[in-house]
Amino acid sequence: MNLLWLQSGGCGGCTLSWLGSGHGSLFHELKDEGIELLWHPSVSEAGVDEARALIEQCADGRVAVDVLCIEGSLLRGPRGTGGFHRFGGGAQPMIEWVRQIASRARHVVAIGSCSSWGGITAAGINPTDACGLQYDGEAAGGLLGPDFRDHGGLPVINVAGCPPHPDWITETLAMLAHGRLRAEHLDDFGRPRFFADQLVHHGCPRNEYYEFKASAEKSSDQGCLMEHLGCGGTQAHADCNQRLWNGEGSCLRGGYACIRCTEPGFEEPGHPFESTPKVAGIPIGLPSDMPKAWFIALAALSKSATPTRVRENAHSDHLLRAPSVKRTKR
Ligand code: SF4
Ligand code: SF4
Repeated sequence: MNLLWLQSGGCGGCTLSWLGSGHGSLFHELKDEGIELLWHPSVSEAGVDEARALIEQCADGRVAVDVLCIEGSLLRGPRGTGGFHRFGGGAQPMIEWVRQIASRARHVVAIGSCSSWGGITAAGINPTDACGLQYDGEAAGGLLGPDFRDHGGLPVINVAGCPPHPDWITETLAMLAHGRLRAEHLDDFGRPRFFADQLVHHGCPRNEYYEFKASAEKSSDQGCLMEHLGCGGTQAHADCNQRLWNGEGSCLRGGYACIRCTEPGFEEPGHPFESTPKVAGIPIGLPSDMPKAWFIALAALSKSATPTRVRENAHSDHLLRAPSVKRTKR
């Protein structure tokens, strides 16, 4: 299976994440899965002229593309011309190359939240009129339109995340290479379910603090970051705390609240990322699948039952009280 990777309105962080794949050589991994890179802007030797010639051949069908990967949002401005991004200084806007190659490619994969939904590049007044391949925020549409389907009947596959975990990218490509990614393996937003059927909350080491609503008040505290520090892990579809980054990390493990970067519209939560907006003391971003009344009742009960150990440790950057040891009488 061959793969063409193009970048548009993004920071390149998705590529950096992918290159940081923790399983040894990414290139050996791709070879093992039978994936051949036609061209990638950061790792291929071909210069701009050679790359442009290849892209032309991909666009007119002389080179058949199995998978088109797009990193970065698609820049439709100014006034729908796409003129803000012309590949390698050429005449044709990048969005035209993407439209042409996407219509011929066997599969189209959005790498990262920029190409999935618009992402950071589409925030604020969005002067470049940035969007995703098949979504504009939560609205289906984007550059290719809501009805786009590849030659196998799949929509754009959205490997969302800012950036996505390197394994999400490689596993998605491996599934495609082996013909094992079907429509039922994608969620309602076109994200592969092998990572999107989980929540960041699952496996977070702060779960005990969450249970007792023992909340951190500053980012170095060990407590749960939901009540005061903006954590959206209970609403973010990703397996970051089960499939660790670089084999050992995650945002939560580094002391950072989850900003829900796999979700459309995450870039504009309407409040600072590191604070939790509340109404009458209740966080407005409640956990997925939990009615508000239940949350209020559970939070009140949990707080009244918080063990001293958990309460004290929640407000510290290191363990103050270890769990007590219970002896079983013989
Ligand atoms: S999704 Fe995030 S990491 Fe990837 S290109 Fe966009 S801003 Fe950069
Ligand atoms: S910090 Fe966030 S992800 Fe972790 S337990 Fe609290 S709400 Fe869940």
